[in-house]
Amino acid sequence: MKRESFQHCRRLVVKVGTSSLTHPSGELHLEQMAKLVNELALAHREGREVLLVTSGAIGAGMGKLGLKGRPRTIPEKQACAAVGQSQLMQIYERFFASYGITVGQVLLTRDDLAHRRRFLNARNALRTLLEYRVIPIVNENDTVAVDEIRLGDNDTLSALVASLISAQLLVILSDVEGLYTGDPRQDPNVRLISEVEKLTPEIWALAGGPGSCLGSGGMSTKLEAARIASRSGCPMIIARASLPEVLPRLLAGEEIGTVFWPRERLRERRRWLLFGAQVKGRICVDAGAALALRQEGKSLLPSGIVAVEGDFEAGHVISIVDPEGKEIARGLVNYSAAEVARIMGHQTSEIESLLGCRLYDEVVHRDNLVLQE
Ligand code: GLU
Repeated sequence: MKRESFQHCRRLVVKVGTSSLTHPSGELHLEQMAKLVNELALAHREGREVLLVTSGAIGAGMGKLGLKGRPRTIPEKQACAAVGQSQLMQIYERFFASYGITVGQVLLTRDDLAHRRRFLNARNALRTLLEYRVIPIVNENDTVAVDEIRLGDNDTLSALVASLISAQLLVILSDVEGLYTGDPRQDPNVRLISEVEKLTPEIWALAGGPGSCLGSGGMSTKLEAARIASRSGCPMIIARASLPEVLPRLLAGEEIGTVFWPRERLRERRRWLLFGAQVKGRICVDAGAALALRQEGKSLLPSGIVAVEGDFEAGHVISIVDPEGKEIARGLVNYSAAEVARIMGHQTSEIESLLGCRLYDEVVHRDNLVLQE
């Protein structure tokens, strides 16, 4: 794939970070927002379907409520988000209206993606908005999201949304130029990496710690986003939001920022299994079963299972781990945790005598199983 292919990209997700939308005090940076809206409007006018994932709600709320530092407690974050989100939307709405574009606010939580039905509902809503030529403006629903149901960062959210609507490009606009060979704040000799074909351990090692104090991202959440995008058939770019004409230039194929090329395009249901669904438990397997799953594409049978953790029911999504504790795959399980505990280590032919019936031969059928890379 070449960068020129971005010219033909029909459906695109753009994510913009808090530090690119707010002043250090937390007040919204109107010039920067106007620039962003102008560039998105241009892409929209070219006939593309555009979806914006915006941060900045908590930051803007901080500014409005006069907080000095980033809120620490959940209720404070929620209050900031409530105040900031409406302010953010008001400005987007006004700015987009001057181009004749209608926007729609979509606030998501982890749960909306974790449950298959809600996931499909969210997808339908976004698709319908795009059909109406509306620009959906997505953020996490920070006002109601408490830690257990929070994604916590919009980099990951943007990749999940890109995967959800099968976008052809994900652009992450940030306060950094892209991915560097080292830390540019410490080493003047580092170089910008223009293309990443594969998320190797060396690339992950470049992620370092979190970035500015206003946003919650950093390079590691961006690489997490790249991991999701790379298996969803969606190229992802990180570029500096403040570069003049950054979006039109990226869409024209100009070599700015860092592009992460996709490795494959998993089917939509498999993407949900791997990235959206909530994991309810773990099944640990022996080395033989790990090999059979990884290399031979086999189903998971009771005989290879050595331990089971969590309290799941048949139909839940579980994680399968190897003897080293490394996750091999996720899948939809055919038996409950209690049933798996009874049949593990046994032959398939023994399931009936152990459980009183045998609904399935496999604990996880390979059609319902997705391997981690
Ligand atoms: N949802 C948060 C906000 O709007 C931003 C999360 C992030 O920084 O990635 O303030």
